[in-house]
Amino acid sequence: MKKHNFRRALIATIAAISITAVFSVKPVHADTVNTDPQVQATNYQMKIHLNTRKNKLTEKVTIDVANNSQNTLHQLLVRNIAAGVLKYDNQHRSKKNKNLKTTVTSITDENNKKLNFKEADQQSSIYVNLPQDLKPGEKTKVTINVITDVPYRADRFGYQPVMGGKVYNLSFCFPYLSDYRNNHWLFHPYSDEGENRNSAVTNYHVSFYAPKSYTVAASGDHTTNKAGKTTIEAKQMRDLAIVCSNRFKVSHAQADGIKINNFYFASKNGAKYNQLAKQCAVDSFHLFNKQFGKYPYKQLDMTEAVFEPSAGGMEYPGLIMISDEGFLGKKPKYYELIQDVSHEIAHQWFFGTLGTDEYTEPWLDEGMAEYFEDFDYNNHDSKSIRMVRNELLKTSNKKVRKALKKTSIKTNIKLSKETLDKVAKYSMKKRHYINYAMNEFPKNSGGEGIVDYEMAPIFYNALRYYMGEKKFYAAMKDYCQTYQFKQPTGRDFLNMIKKYDDSAKVQKVIDNFIDPQYLR
Ligand SMILES: [Zn+2]
Repeated sequence: MKKHNFRRALIATIAAISITAVFSVKPVHADTVNTDPQVQATNYQMKIHLNTRKNKLTEKVTIDVANNSQNTLHQLLVRNIAAGVLKYDNQHRSKKNKNLKTTVTSITDENNKKLNFKEADQQSSIYVNLPQDLKPGEKTKVTINVITDVPYRADRFGYQPVMGGKVYNLSFCFPYLSDYRNNHWLFHPYSDEGENRNSAVTNYHVSFYAPKSYTVAASGDHTTNKAGKTTIEAKQMRDLAIVCSNRFKVSHAQADGIKINNFYFASKNGAKYNQLAKQCAVDSFHLFNKQFGKYPYKQLDMTEAVFEPSAGGMEYPGLIMISDEGFLGKKPKYYELIQDVSHEIAHQWFFGTLGTDEYTEPWLDEGMAEYFEDFDYNNHDSKSIRMVRNELLKTSNKKVRKALKKTSIKTNIKLSKETLDKVAKYSMKKRHYINYAMNEFPKNSGGEGIVDYEMAPIFYNALRYYMGEKKFYAAMKDYCQTYQFKQPTGRDFLNMIKKYDDSAKVQKVIDNFIDPQYLR
């Protein structure tokens, strides 16, 4: 996710360094996990109907399950995370939402025989009793039928009115098999603030039905026929999102052979939004493909989103939701738009291809996406950076224009490399740990907003400075390629850094930011 309220100027960033943490949380020890889960969902066959009159999803999800563990399983754990989202919405967004619910209507085996199941964790966990034991090495199929309300919410799961039509963001609403490793089901509660995903890559085969006036964007490759049926093939992806609107226009661009499909609204500023969002995607792919190894999918869909002001975007493999950033109204935010796009494209690696656990180690996915957007994309001369600069020179007040004229395009519109080097040195003056899970942030740490969006980028900046750029980027590329489509941990990342630089000064950077008690 890209958050806005935490965006700060450099001074505030440096001030954040001095925040002292109170370590009142008991340490958690976990084994290193860097392999595929022991019980795996190898395929999902999904039939999803969207009723735009009732704002309801009817889903039939068949999961192919392979037991690669040494244990005999009597039960499977299917997660219906929509229950967590709707519980939050019922509590916090009830005005426009009346008694939202998600109901599992039936679960069947491969012979269409009904299976017993028990719901737990406020309906978000569904323990399915298998008709017979699933022994090590065996495979099975289960089918879950579920009906889920779509909330009225400007968020990643919800619908909103737009330009006399509607837009549906559909994610965090599809049932999935829980991760299973170290001989137990490993799952996290829904987090409205951040993310809770920890799934392995799988293959989605989806038929999605919406009224034929709707244009559909989705993870993976997809086509929509005249009757409104969209066929989606999303291979080697660890999550799926579908977005549709009866007001979308679609525009395309290419970067290094990757097709970029931008789904946007034809508002007064729509053409400018489209042009800038596409250019930023092209520039981000050019930069990140070179740094991390090429994005492995054929295309990326970007969808203009009506989001609450605190959110700038949301990442899924092959699809990113990007806030309209005022372009639907009178005050387009040019700079924010390129920050959202470059951040979510960085997530195509840091969460997309590298499936680090978003809940237990947000410093990896959020921290890296923020670092490579804010300290890296921003520091490269590109067409999109220049487009924003020109717009700001035309539209900003005198003070901002004067400041902009002072900086050269070749550095950036925000921080110069010289300043970043200063930040790196300054950040070593005090210890400030970043490797906390979503439920472990010490009091006064500022939570995810400070720790993962502000402090974690400062850690990566310190690594860059003390390793030198050559070693730092070589380590990043090796990390991305070694763990592509896998689920690395913080320990795996640090081992990769040490492979390229095991000097005392780099160890000091690690000691400064990483609390060994919390390292996974
Ligand atoms: Zn993010």
